[in-house]
Amino acid sequence: MIELNHIVKTYQTGDETLIALNDISLKIEKGEFTAIMGPSGSGKSTMMNILGLLDRFDSGTYQLNGKDVSDLRDNESARVRNKEIGFVFQSFNLMPRMTILENVELPMVYAGVPAKERKKRALKALERVGLGDRVKHKPNEISGGQKQRVAIARAIVNNPSVLMADEPTGNLDSKTTIDILRIFQELNAEGTTIVMVTHEPEVAIYTKRIVSFFDGSLQDDRLQKPEIL
Ligand code: ADP
Ligand code: MG
Repeated sequence: MIELNHIVKTYQTGDETLIALNDISLKIEKGEFTAIMGPSGSGKSTMMNILGLLDRFDSGTYQLNGKDVSDLRDNESARVRNKEIGFVFQSFNLMPRMTILENVELPMVYAGVPAKERKKRALKALERVGLGDRVKHKPNEISGGQKQRVAIARAIVNNPSVLMADEPTGNLDSKTTIDILRIFQELNAEGTTIVMVTHEPEVAIYTKRIVSFFDGSLQDDRLQKPEIL
């Protein structure tokens, strides 16, 4: 499903070049639930932004579902991203002026789905994450855990082939964290491939594979039997 070969990503600040990712090769198969781990600054978010087609890289190749997406033009990468990838952020990134329902409909607006179908699918996704009764609320009227569930509904509403999440539980308390991880495990059991960044070992135990980064390099990669929620 995902195949990265020899990815290098640098950041230029003034006359300094920082190597954020140093020759990363990684394969992720359909059905996996993978944790990307590593200390702060090790390149996890840089990796996720590349996987999510939110950022470009200097060299190497990226294949997504058999298609080379290494060098797409901006409009093309936006299209592939909207169709194939659901992305969840640590800070939720909901649209504050829109209702919860409208937030979840947004990816379908971009995909050109007709209004009636949009509403139907958005409601179904919100029910899927246990928020079917909050659809008319605005984001500032619900809790952090509920916001993240809205963000997950928005991320899965176009039936993406992969769900990506960068520290999705980083702003949540431990009980709410478990609620979110349970939803991820359920989605994964239903066939959704998930890649999730976390620096917390107590979060990573619920995944099937841990890929560890250190200083921009891939340091470790191991399968594990997940704790089931
Ligand atoms: P992590 O998510 O593991 O904390 P990041 O991928 O955010 O790590 O960052 C990796 C390295 O790249 C860090 O040294 C960070 O300071 C640097 N970095 C990240 N984003 C930028 C940027 N936009 N400009 C310059 N340096 C950056
Ligand atoms: Mg990060």
